[in-house]
Amino acid sequence: MTSPAKRLCSSSSSLIKYQWHPIVDDDYLRLPNLIQMTVARVKDRQLTSDIIPLINTIYSWPHSLKHIRRLHKHDNHLDILLYPSSFITPLEKTEFDKYFENETRLINIPENPCLLKWQYDICIKDHWPGLVFRENKILEQSQLNKDLTEQDDIILDLFQKIQENDKESHYAIIVDNERQIPLVGSRDYRDKHPLQHSTMVAIDLLAADSVYLRENLIEKFIEKQEKKTYLLNGCSIYLTHEPCIMCAMALLHSRVSTVYYVNKHVHVGALGSKYKLHTLKKTNHRFTVYHLEQINNGDTVNS
Ligand SMILES: [Zn+2]
Repeated sequence: MTSPAKRLCSSSSSLIKYQWHPIVDDDYLRLPNLIQMTVARVKDRQLTSDIIPLINTIYSWPHSLKHIRRLHKHDNHLDILLYPSSFITPLEKTEFDKYFENETRLINIPENPCLLKWQYDICIKDHWPGLVFRENKILEQSQLNKDLTEQDDIILDLFQKIQENDKESHYAIIVDNERQIPLVGSRDYRDKHPLQHSTMVAIDLLAADSVYLRENLIEKFIEKQEKKTYLLNGCSIYLTHEPCIMCAMALLHSRVSTVYYVNKHVHVGALGSKYKLHTLKKTNHRFTVYHLEQINNGDTVNS
C-alpha cells in the first residue's frame, strides 16, 4: 500500500519514507553554557577534611552548581574545583603550597544540569567528569523520531481526499486521541477573512457556539462525531502547514495535546521554523509537536 504521507508530501519518488520528527526546546539540542573554573590537585588525600572547610571560606560552593561534584578522584589523584577562573581573591600562595601540587589548571563546567544523556556524555568526556545526572527515560524518548501509525495514515489519506479540488489551501484535521477518530476538518478561508486560517476554523467548528459557520469537511467522508471533551483536551491536530503564531497560540489556549504538521512555514511558522511557541517556559499549557520528515532519500523501501 502506498503511504498517504508519500502521496501528500512528495510529487517525486514513491520510495521516499517518512517519520514524525519532534520539534523540541533548544535546550535539548545544545550543550549547557560553560563556566571556566580553576582546578587544583590535592597533595595528600588524607588532608581533604581540612581542605574542604578552608576552600569553603574562600569560595562557598553555590547551590546553583549542586549538579557539579566539587571533588573528583581518578587513578591515585584527587582534584578539586577551587573557584571560577575570574575569582578575584584566590587562595594565598603559602596555603596553596601546603595543600596542593604545583600549579592549577582551568577547566569548563556546565552552568546548568545536563538534561539529556548525550549532553552528559560530552560534558564528562570533554570537561569535568564529576557531574550529577539522572537519565529521564521519558524525556529521552520524547526526543526520538516516531513511525507513522495507522491513524496517521488514515488522517493523511483524509487530507488527500479533502484536498482533491483545492490543493493549494492549508488544511486542519482534529482527532480525538482516545477514540482515534477525526472530529472536524477545515480548509483555509483567509482569502475571505484574515483570521480564518484552517487551524482557527477547525477549532471554531468544535466550539459550542461556532462563529465562523464553515463546513466540516470530515462529514463528507465519515459519520459526524460528537466531541465530548473540554476544548481540545485529549485531541491532536494534523495540519498540512506549520501554524502561524496566531494559530499556535489558539492551539495552546485550546489545550491541544499534540500537533502534527507536514510542511514547514519558514518565515512565519510558530512551532519550529520562526518560533517554538510550545516550548515557552511560562505558558500554562505545554504540548508536543511533530513535523513530517523524510528519513531516507531514494533508498529502496519494501512495501
Ligand atoms: Zn495561522
